[in-house]
Amino acid sequence: MTVEYRRLRVALLGAGSVGSQVAALLLRHGDELADRAGAALDLAGIAVRDLDAPREADLPKDLFTTDAETLIVGSDIVIELMGGIEPARSHLLQAINSGADVVTANKALLATHGAEIFEAADQVGAQVYYEAAAAGAIPIIRPLRDSLAGDRVRRIMGIVNGTTNYILDRMDTEGAGFAEVLADAQRLGYAEADPTADVEGYDAAQKAAILASLAFHTTVPLDAVHREGITSIDKGIMDAARRAGYVIKLLAVCERLVDPDTEAESISVRVYPALVSRAHPLASVHGANNAVFVEAEAAGDLMFYGAGAGGVQTASAVLGDVVSAARRHIAGGVGVGESTRAGLAVAPVGRVVTRYQITLEVEDRPGVLAKVAGILSEGRVSIATVEQTVSGEDAATALLVIGTHKALEQDLSETVDRIAASGVVERVVSVLRVEGE
Ligand code: NAP
Repeated sequence: MTVEYRRLRVALLGAGSVGSQVAALLLRHGDELADRAGAALDLAGIAVRDLDAPREADLPKDLFTTDAETLIVGSDIVIELMGGIEPARSHLLQAINSGADVVTANKALLATHGAEIFEAADQVGAQVYYEAAAAGAIPIIRPLRDSLAGDRVRRIMGIVNGTTNYILDRMDTEGAGFAEVLADAQRLGYAEADPTADVEGYDAAQKAAILASLAFHTTVPLDAVHREGITSIDKGIMDAARRAGYVIKLLAVCERLVDPDTEAESISVRVYPALVSRAHPLASVHGANNAVFVEAEAAGDLMFYGAGAGGVQTASAVLGDVVSAARRHIAGGVGVGESTRAGLAVAPVGRVVTRYQITLEVEDRPGVLAKVAGILSEGRVSIATVEQTVSGEDAATALLVIGTHKALEQDLSETVDRIAASGVVERVVSVLRVEGE
């Protein structure tokens, strides 16, 4: 029996890596998606910049237009897959204000203008869907927004950037150098010609802001996210991590902090290369894969794992949102706004408490370790492990790798500054945090 569904007009903005796959799947599986959504999804058009640009999927030419604004008018669902801030922002606001529900994968836009877009949707009762904005194909937005809405998230640790995971994984497993692996990643298409957004942690910071906002029901501005990239990680630092039983991962950490004196809660949102025990589930995330490890008070530990990018993979998450948007449109009623009422303050990174691994290049002579240990103790940083290896060709210098017990980041960083200025060390090679313990 043929079911006559209500027809919904769907506008697609962008037909690049993700958009072209979304269009192809929407056209190929239209009947099946209609059965799932309870509505026929009519792809009304696809807005692009260049009508003649080659496409990754074979799509009907007559669907293409360069006039996104006219395409949006009268649409029930608008899918934004252009990327960037403008004109994506203006198009999304136009879509919301003209009564459409919107689907976007645009992390850069949501991390910088999310509050404005959610507010506009609230005003008119529209819904914003963005499952693909945080970790590509991995379902993490819905679990945080819906499945864990009755729980309290303590901490999220995410490997949310495939490029940096690919680079760090090859450095770890093959002993390769950063520049060499980056060049390979560029050749294989895992890294852009300008890799800054990935290797300096900007992309991960945008995702961290989105995940933290959802997990802690708080608006997290992008500039409140502490960010460090992976460009300083070299073979020596990798080797020291491996000897100590760790692997280095670029982590997006979103954590609930509780002041021990007042019990007041705040949150920390940070992106940096961190040491992860080889026994932790995140240590087994290889290649360009992503994973998000969630620690919740009642649910305990949960891990979400899979492809964090890729056109067709990301299209899966986008189409899930399109089906949800269609169901909601058919059911009617106002959209469910973002829950930001907890309004927790975002604490500076200095308030974070973790363990550290400090690598120092020192003169190989008696008394140096005692001096360094003295400065650490004065700074309320206690030593857990020490490893010393001769490093200079003339054996005059040594590498001192110190593992600490848990310490306040502010105390640690002031203490490392004092060690650097003490005259007993040649160079502070690295200071890495240990996460996941
Ligand atoms: P992309 O390959 O660069 O494609 C962008 C598309 O948008 C192109 O079709 C382009 O048209 C169109 N476009 C850009 N500016 C436009 C403008 N001013 N007017 C009209 N059309 C415009 O991007 P993508 O990789 O598919 O990514 C799309 C979004 O998904 C981004 O927000 C990205 O962050 C997000 N995302 C991507 C992935 C991934 O694996 N690629 C994963 C997760 C999330 P032309 O083709 O004519 O130039």
